[in-house]
Amino acid sequence: MQIKTVEALKDALNLLTQKNQIIGLVPTMGALHDGHLALVEHAYKDCDYVVVSIFVNPTQFNNSSDLQKYPRNLEADVSLLHQQNSKTIVFTPSIEEIYKEGVVAETFDFGSITKFMEGEFRQGHFDGVGTIIKHLFNIVQPHKAYFGEKDYQQLSLIKKLVEITKQPVEIIGSPTYRETSGLAKSSRNKRLDEQQLEVATLLHRSLLYAKNNFNKLSISEIKEKVKGLFDQEKRLDLEYFEFAAVDDLIPTEDKVENKKYRAFIAAVINDVRLIDNISVN
Ligand code: AMP
Repeated sequence: MQIKTVEALKDALNLLTQKNQIIGLVPTMGALHDGHLALVEHAYKDCDYVVVSIFVNPTQFNNSSDLQKYPRNLEADVSLLHQQNSKTIVFTPSIEEIYKEGVVAETFDFGSITKFMEGEFRQGHFDGVGTIIKHLFNIVQPHKAYFGEKDYQQLSLIKKLVEITKQPVEIIGSPTYRETSGLAKSSRNKRLDEQQLEVATLLHRSLLYAKNNFNKLSISEIKEKVKGLFDQEKRLDLEYFEFAAVDDLIPTEDKVENKKYRAFIAAVINDVRLIDNISVN
């Protein structure tokens, strides 16, 4: 089923919740790939029905050309989802349907988790994400919602969001789905040719280097090495390569015993911005 309005979606969901069905939500911006489908599959392990929203959210783009060039493929997306599972409710609202009172983002205080890395390089992005997800939780009122670890800062902020808003939804993280080359699947990969896709594997190779050497080298030694690799690859522009503990997501050069760390990377190739991260201990 494809539903375009909030009212029709609420009607459909009311019928299901009256029958005690467990509802899962997977928010997406479309141009779906196997990473999105893996999230939906994860959701069907715990839920009777899954709502997949497809909405390119204007308030989370800090760069209008990125918004304009964002790949859109609605018909193919809907049919892909229904091939995967005919029960999936695909919610495809218009901008007016979501932003009834104007296309503006609410301002949130998520603390340190959104201050650095993506928060630094994409001003306003996380307020836009918080705004759309809060709206979607209010509309769908899912029991559980699924987000990819690929966007790790986003996953952390959604957990924080439901603490702040007290929306009764369980947030579930799902592992990053990769190409066989190691490159994280992303809608933006569609804008790269074969050669650029090969060059882009340096992001994941750098993260693997970080993971394999985390206990052997200092963080600054690992960062130095990875920066050197990017200096040699002129087609890729490194934006950041950082290590942070998962509880605060503040970039650090220190390792504190018993803390869990991840390495985070962002780079631009051919005007396409790619991000990735990995657990290192
Ligand atoms: P997007 O359409 O890019 O906004 O992504 C929608 C959801 O899919 C987000 O929760 C992403 O973190 C997740 N996602 C995107 N790419 C991947 C991937 N390669 N593996 C796992 N989850 C992903």
